[in-house]
Amino acid sequence: MNGLMNGKRGLIMGVANNHSIAWGISKALAAQGAKLAFTYQGEALGKRVKPLAAEVDSDFLLPCDVEDIASVDAVIAAIKERWGKLDFVVHAIGFSDKNELKGLYADTTRENFSRTMVISCFSFTEIAKRAAELMSEGGTMLTLTYGGSTRVMPNYNVMGVAKAALEASVRYLAADYGTRGIRVNAISAGPIRTLAGAGISDARAMLSWQQKNSPLRRTVTIDDVGNSALYLLSDLSRGVTGEIHYVDSGYNITSMPTLEALRT
Ligand code: NAD
Repeated sequence: MNGLMNGKRGLIMGVANNHSIAWGISKALAAQGAKLAFTYQGEALGKRVKPLAAEVDSDFLLPCDVEDIASVDAVIAAIKERWGKLDFVVHAIGFSDKNELKGLYADTTRENFSRTMVISCFSFTEIAKRAAELMSEGGTMLTLTYGGSTRVMPNYNVMGVAKAALEASVRYLAADYGTRGIRVNAISAGPIRTLAGAGISDARAMLSWQQKNSPLRRTVTIDDVGNSALYLLSDLSRGVTGEIHYVDSGYNITSMPTLEALRT
C-alpha cells in the first residue's frame, strides 16, 4: 500500500538520534507521504536531528523542553502559523534520573518521582490538550510505553509507575477527545537499545532475556515499532482508540521462561 499518509501533517517529539524509536516512526510515516515537523531538546541534540529531518524532507525543527511549558506553547504556535492544522502527534519522550533506575523502587526520591512523572507522563496530557486545538478535522495521537507499567521489571522502578499513569492518561484522553474525531493510543515496545534505554541498569540483560523468552525469539527494532505506529496513526486504524498496542515479539503473553532458556 502506498501514500497512506499523503496530505497528513504531523509533529514528532523525541528524536535524539538515528537509534530513537521516534526516528523509526518518522521513517515509516515519511515513506507513506506524511509531512513532518520535529522537536529537539537542546542545541546539541538539534545538531543531530537536523540532518535526520532533512533525510525525510523536513526543514521544520523546533526546540522544546517539556519541563518548560512556554517552549511547548511556542511549538504549537509555530505549527499553527506554518500549517494552520495538525493531523497527528507522536510523543516519544521519557526521562528519569538513572541513579534511580537501579536498586529498589522504594528508594525513589520525591524530587525524581515528580520530575519523572512530569516529563514522562504529564507532558503527554499537556501536549494533547494543545495539539487537539489544531485538530478541528480530527486527528491521532500516539505515545510510547513499556510493559514495566503492569509487571515488575528489575530496575525499571519509577519509570514503571510513570508508564502506568501514562497508559491511564491514554484512556482518559481517548474518552475526552473521541467525540471530536481524535484518537489516542500507545505502543508498548519491547526493549530496544537507545539513549533512554541505556539509562536503565542491566539493560543488556533485559534485551537478552526478551530475545530468549519471547514467542518470536527476537527483540524488536525501531522499524517494527515504526510500522505499527503507521497503522495507529493512519486511517487503517480509524476504529481504534484508547488502545495499548504491544510491539514486543509477544513477550507480554508469556508467564515463564521458555524451556530451552531454562535448560541453558
Ligand atoms: P531516546 O533517548 O532516543 O528518546 C527519548 C527522547 O526523550 C529524547 O529525544 C529526549 O530528548 C527526549 N526527552 C527527555 N526529556 C525531555 C524533556 N524534558 N523535554 C523534551 N524531550 C525530552 O530513547 P527511546 O528509547 O527512543 O525513547 C522514546 C520513548 O520510548 C520513551 O518514552 C521511552 O520510555 C519509550 N520506550 C523505550 C523503550 C526502549 O527499550 N528503548 C521501550 C519501550 C518504550
